[in-house]
Amino acid sequence: MKMHNFNAGPSVLPREVIEQTAKAVLDFEGHGLSILEISHRAKYFQPVVDEAEALFKELLDIPEGYSVLFLGGGASLQFCMVPYNFLVNKAAYLNTGVWSKKAIKEAQAFGEVNVVASSAETTFNYIPKGFVVPEDVDYFHYTANNTIYGTEIRETPNVGNVRLISDMSSDIFSHPVDVAKYDCIYGGAQKNLAPAGVTFVIVKNDALGKAKEAGRHIPTMLDYQTHVDGGSMFNTPPVLPIYTALQTLRWIKAQGGVTEMARRAKERADLLYSAIDSSKIFRPTILDEADRSYMNICFVMKDEYKELEADFLKFATDHGMVGVKGHRSVGGFRASCYNALPLESVQALVDCMKEFENK
Ligand SMILES: *Cc1c(COP(=O)(O)O)cnc(C)c1O
Repeated sequence: MKMHNFNAGPSVLPREVIEQTAKAVLDFEGHGLSILEISHRAKYFQPVVDEAEALFKELLDIPEGYSVLFLGGGASLQFCMVPYNFLVNKAAYLNTGVWSKKAIKEAQAFGEVNVVASSAETTFNYIPKGFVVPEDVDYFHYTANNTIYGTEIRETPNVGNVRLISDMSSDIFSHPVDVAKYDCIYGGAQKNLAPAGVTFVIVKNDALGKAKEAGRHIPTMLDYQTHVDGGSMFNTPPVLPIYTALQTLRWIKAQGGVTEMARRAKERADLLYSAIDSSKIFRPTILDEADRSYMNICFVMKDEYKELEADFLKFATDHGMVGVKGHRSVGGFRASCYNALPLESVQALVDCMKEFENK
């Protein structure tokens, strides 16, 4: 049976990326050794990091003066590294879900945190609008795509001259980003880029150093400057996930870059949301179309059909749909439709929903 991978993360990767990785595990580019057993300092590994960094810059059109880092620790470690490096006095955060809340909690240990708006009272089913970000904050932080609730901020928020920091774990490379407006963009790579184990950080070089000037001691490994200076090689980086990330970046470029990824994302999302909106038994959880994520599409059964949820899950699973169970905090269903998910998989899910509805 053909499997359709709607996992939220780790998640679907392009087949050719997995095949390239498998080859490198057996014999890394003809050097006679597996990528699992070479030194990260081998002269033939450095080009992998260099090309991955160069492709990040090319595909996202990153201006001069930024570094791209490949680190360990997941996006969750960035919740702490961001305020460690950037929060001197005050920061503003938008609370749009579990990941925002975790970022806020870490920041509170470093200074004053102004939560400018929150959609917590309605289980984060919309993106707050019209909030005011004070001008005197060190930065404004937001989660670009709320993987669990299925809301997304695709357009860079307009917050005047305040520098932006964003967690783009689950929508990086799915649409163009105006990187020049940000001091830092970070994410775990396991949603749209690579297997678990590598975290990307795009950081503006001259935004660094203010916390240290203000007297803060930053532990070496948590100091972005360490990794900027060391070219992501201060210590052993996650070699295999970086290699796979490079293959994905090459794949994105060959497919036509982020504009093409954005076109496909919208095509997938339009297909699935219209099936949900027109269904007799399913309904969407995010009502405002502008707030709907293209990456994680959430839906539930209408109240009068609630008792059919487990039946549908079994039906979908029997038809090869993987990972469509919603996050435990929301319930229902979630179809994660990352870059590598073919439109056929979304069509298969839509067909499966219609078949179930007709039964
Ligand atoms: C998955 C996810 C995280 C957590 O990433 P880890 O790499 O597991 O720490 C953080 N933020 C967002 C938006 C996510 O989707």
